[in-house]
Amino acid sequence: MVFNDTDLHHYEDFLKTLLDKGYDFIKFQELNKSHGQVILRHDIDFDCHMALQMAELEHQYNIQSTYFFLVCNDSYNISSPNNQKYINKIKALGHEINVHFDPSIYQDIEAGLTREVQYFEMLFETKVNIISLHRPEDLFLNNDNSINGIEHTYQGKYFKHIKYFADSRGVWRYGHPFNSEVFKEGRSLHLLIHPIWWQIKGADTSQKLMQYYQKRVNELKEHMAANCIPFQKIIDHV
Ligand SMILES: [Zn+2]
Repeated sequence: MVFNDTDLHHYEDFLKTLLDKGYDFIKFQELNKSHGQVILRHDIDFDCHMALQMAELEHQYNIQSTYFFLVCNDSYNISSPNNQKYINKIKALGHEINVHFDPSIYQDIEAGLTREVQYFEMLFETKVNIISLHRPEDLFLNNDNSINGIEHTYQGKYFKHIKYFADSRGVWRYGHPFNSEVFKEGRSLHLLIHPIWWQIKGADTSQKLMQYYQKRVNELKEHMAANCIPFQKIIDHV
């Protein structure tokens, strides 16, 4: 089932404002100016299909951004046939795809990262140059070094030397970027955008989460009905 209750027009307006201001949309490692560049970063915590919808809209405006996907998690499976298709399409649209890494699941973080990067590179025939960290602890926020030779998005050049804004938890935690002095001055920006807050309809974070939860329940039902005959007998009772 294609879930229709999504709406990207707020995000489209957001992109247009950045374009009107004359910003260049760049990948992390292209950052070389104090003004006029914007890095659009998407940490995908829940849903690869919504990531693709966002990527398609950006492509319509010739905008390139960077999508980070969780390799080991319970929200989605990057190697499911549909998710592989979505992620490959995002890559084919000219966006960068990389690993969104959750260090909390490993005792040996470097070994865990190496495994995830190798798997991701093999699955999507790509090179992982930079990772973003899922729910980073202070250890990483204050770590300016690459990990195993791979950069991360909280290194000073991406996190402190240019202004960083994040929509984590459904609100702009450091104020809305367009109300900031740095935006008015056209300084370079690093913007973390989670698709779920922009695509799922709802007046606030709670409503959006309820909508999204129901979407996932419906998808699980369809998946179980398609793969388990006894479930088809009880589908109307669950
Ligand atoms: Zn995350």
